[in-house]
Amino acid sequence: MSEPLLQVEGLTAGYGGALAVDRLSLSVGAGEAVALLGANGAGKSTLLKAILGLVPATGGRVRLAGEEIGALAPERRVRRGLGYVPEGRRVFPGMSVRDNLEVASWLGRAGRAQDLERVFALFPALAGKAEERAWRLSGGQQQMLAVARALMGRPRVLLLDEPSLGLSPKLAGEVFAAVRAIAVTGTAVLLAEQSAARALSAAERVVLLRLGRAVHDGPVENLPTDALRDAFLGG
Ligand code: ATP
Repeated sequence: MSEPLLQVEGLTAGYGGALAVDRLSLSVGAGEAVALLGANGAGKSTLLKAILGLVPATGGRVRLAGEEIGALAPERRVRRGLGYVPEGRRVFPGMSVRDNLEVASWLGRAGRAQDLERVFALFPALAGKAEERAWRLSGGQQQMLAVARALMGRPRVLLLDEPSLGLSPKLAGEVFAAVRAIAVTGTAVLLAEQSAARALSAAERVVLLRLGRAVHDGPVENLPTDALRDAFLGG
């Protein structure tokens, strides 16, 4: 098997003295979507932030396509190929859909135009509303816009924090279908979710997190229900 695009080894991170991520290891390959599941407070958001460098790691390694990136500032990790969609649909409500996308790009004008075309092809609903202000979009469309913003700049690895939060099952389904379509293009996707059933429909592999540790890592189809229950209920 070729080398995973994202490799996390023994990562430890927290806040002051409190550990939120404890010697955690996982990997995500090109074209693969991995669901990161766990109860409220299990450490999912902290893990994504530590991969990006927004929360400093106190131990372990992060590699992107084999290159160690754990000592780089977050913006340099983004330029190496990490994309991040934080929790809570962060878009600029007063700006048009097109402007939201353009300001998210750090490429030159030609690259930006190409990327706009690519994300509009992936999200036709956004293409039809390019000149609308973002606040006029539905919740699901705003979440698509948040994902689309992270795709400007062509990340090789996409980190998504609870993209289905607050969405109806139908809109969440659309967001997860988009996540699958992104993985199919060769991007490695790590998807943190509290809603297990929905996330499992979008992923091939699942990592269960409990108290900052990975307690299970395997294909979605072989996921033992008691492992899932234990991760969520503390079993
Ligand atoms: P949620 O789904 O609620 O976001 P999570 O699995 O993403 O949960 P984290 O948000 O990573 O979990 O939280 C892991 C632990 O770190 C929890 O005990 C939480 O209270 C703590 N924590 C998170 N953010 C901070 C912070 N800014 N300062 C101090 N402790 C924090």
